[in-house]
Amino acid sequence: DRLKDVNDSYGHLIGDQLLVAVTTRMAAMMRHGDTLARLSGDEFVVVCEEVQSPAHAAAIGNRLVLALARPYVLTNIEVQISASVGLAYAEYGEHSAEQLLHEADTAMYQAKRHGGGRQHMFDTGLQHLSTPLASLESDLLAAITRGELRNEYQPIVSTADSRITGVEALVRWSHPDRGEIPATTLIPLAEQSDLISDIGHWALRRAWADLGRWQQAGGAEDVTVAVNVSAHQIVSETFLPQVRDILRDGSLRPDLLTLEITESVFLRNSDHASFALTELRDLGLKLALDDFGTGYSTLTYLKQFPVDIIKIDRSFIADLGMNRASNAVVLAIVQMAHSLGMTVVAEGIENSTQRDLVADMGCDFSQGFHFGKPAPADRIKELLQPHFQAHRAGALLALPHPRSAGS
Ligand code: C2E
Ligand code: MG
Ligand code: MG
Repeated sequence: DRLKDVNDSYGHLIGDQLLVAVTTRMAAMMRHGDTLARLSGDEFVVVCEEVQSPAHAAAIGNRLVLALARPYVLTNIEVQISASVGLAYAEYGEHSAEQLLHEADTAMYQAKRHGGGRQHMFDTGLQHLSTPLASLESDLLAAITRGELRNEYQPIVSTADSRITGVEALVRWSHPDRGEIPATTLIPLAEQSDLISDIGHWALRRAWADLGRWQQAGGAEDVTVAVNVSAHQIVSETFLPQVRDILRDGSLRPDLLTLEITESVFLRNSDHASFALTELRDLGLKLALDDFGTGYSTLTYLKQFPVDIIKIDRSFIADLGMNRASNAVVLAIVQMAHSLGMTVVAEGIENSTQRDLVADMGCDFSQGFHFGKPAPADRIKELLQPHFQAHRAGALLALPHPRSAGS
């Protein structure tokens, strides 16, 4: 999965080393009589003869998935990747080689479709997917034109008084046959099939239009909307003009738009990324660094790139109060961000203990199920009404031990 990302981030020399390491690892797992072949850049085929049943084949698939997920130590760098394994099984003489390969290929795309890092056994129910990738792309393309995509919005509140100061747009896909497809599946799919630009553009336009409607309904004058942008989009040439066009029509202030990027943006092509981010920021919008602390990037990037907001990943918030190290890390991130002139959002606040701890540490803003789950645009419109907002602030003041937000 994502060999291309490794090549893009670290260069082809590292990509080649990774391929050799993957091959060596797989070769070590082969039994006498098995065949291992490389079909194309990132595709391998393993032929195992005399496998007793599909369940035995599945066990082999599982072993491969697990073995390939262990970290690879290459020259000066440790890389971790996952693999998608597609399995096809046939009794002796039942299938042609072409048919077996085709079924394995179809199953492999199913594994990728479910997020990669897993195996999938071909089942006859998949037979209608004669060209899996093409069908997947057309499903996704159709999703936009058929109106199957929608944005939900999650409140971001001021830590001091729980007022909603902004929302984050999170894309959702209702597939006609498969039901709700979560963002964690949809976005990687879109990135693999190059549809991320279309989907990202759609989500941004939609979010900006919804903010306009909330403003018209009243109570949302200074409310911001944050939209996630994938690394693929930032470096594409069409992105900047798209953002400029969106900001141009409508009467909303550009500083009400935040684009959320992840540290992976910096890994790709840092000169290009730096240039693209500076141009975006010149449009007057804000940039947030999402999931901070989970990527590979170093602190140098914080000096080099024009970021306004840091969002502390929820993995750090999850064990606040239980793990001294997490407390120390969060506090250090807040202090560092503040001394760099950035504001901080704590992600994934699920209870009042976490809420109080991040308030004590001086986090400016908070987001999480404790304050509100992602909700449809109309629900947000209601929540932004002045009486709702006053109620929220009032609810916090009524707490038994009000704490200072430290900012
Ligand atoms: P993210 O940007 O970090 O968004 C926050 C995710 O955490 C959301 O998941 C949200 O529902 C979830 N979350 C919020 N509060 C809590 C909490 O208190 N506890 C827990 N356990 N989870 C919480 P979701 O909606 O599944 O989105 C996942 C990711 O998909 C997002 O992570 C973002 O990276 C990506 N994504 C979503 N929409 C878009 C989009 O339009 N474009 C791009 N490029 N990526 C998107
Ligand atoms: Mg985000
Ligand atoms: Mg996040």
